[in-house]
Amino acid sequence: MNQTILIVEDEPKIVEFIKSYIENAGYQALVAENGRDALSFFRQSHIDLVLLDLMLPDLSGESICKVIRQESNVPIIMITAKSDESSIIAGLNMGADDYITKPFSPRQLIARIQALFRRSHLIEDRLTLCVTGPFQISEDDYSILLNGYNLSLTATEYNLFVTLLKRPSKVFTREELATIAFSGTYEGYNRSIDSHIKNIRNKIAKHSKTDYIRTVRGIGYQYYEEEGSKSNESKP
Ligand code: CA
Repeated sequence: MNQTILIVEDEPKIVEFIKSYIENAGYQALVAENGRDALSFFRQSHIDLVLLDLMLPDLSGESICKVIRQESNVPIIMITAKSDESSIIAGLNMGADDYITKPFSPRQLIARIQALFRRSHLIEDRLTLCVTGPFQISEDDYSILLNGYNLSLTATEYNLFVTLLKRPSKVFTREELATIAFSGTYEGYNRSIDSHIKNIRNKIAKHSKTDYIRTVRGIGYQYYEEEGSKSNESKP
């Protein structure tokens, strides 16, 4: 069964363009021309990935992203004409996994989709369950439990946090995190690592007072466990 990609885009020419490339790449495409359709298709059908335009006639892409994230960890790629960093960061903070800016090449779009599917399905002689501190990593279903509570991480967040968890003593640079966590498939800039880390921290904060991720100023991030050693460094 082919993976189904939901295209949320209101411009017919762009829809046609994206749809034909997606179908040629072997995926099934479902099209929503506005936010309300997007959410109802999302709830009614099995969707494996969402391509989400940010400028829609009714709901904003950001708000759709937020609603989807409350219900699912499905991979989301934002499509945006806004190439400025702040709107991209805002989208990533809403839980998108990746973004692509208009105009984009179809080959790049397909490469991003394939990379995201690889990230979601990385299978490298994984153990079913391993434990680091209060965290249980279930590698069969890509979930991480904190004191028994599922953090409900996206694939991107999962890969990032597992990378940190597995080498608690190491400080990772943003470049290393991008390369290791995403097997070299990550093309975003370093600031988007900060957004993903922020999302992971918010999810941890729902279940714990310790934040477990230390910001090492000027370098990157490190996993830590000790109580009372919360970093004084400023968070991004
Ligand atoms: Ca649009």
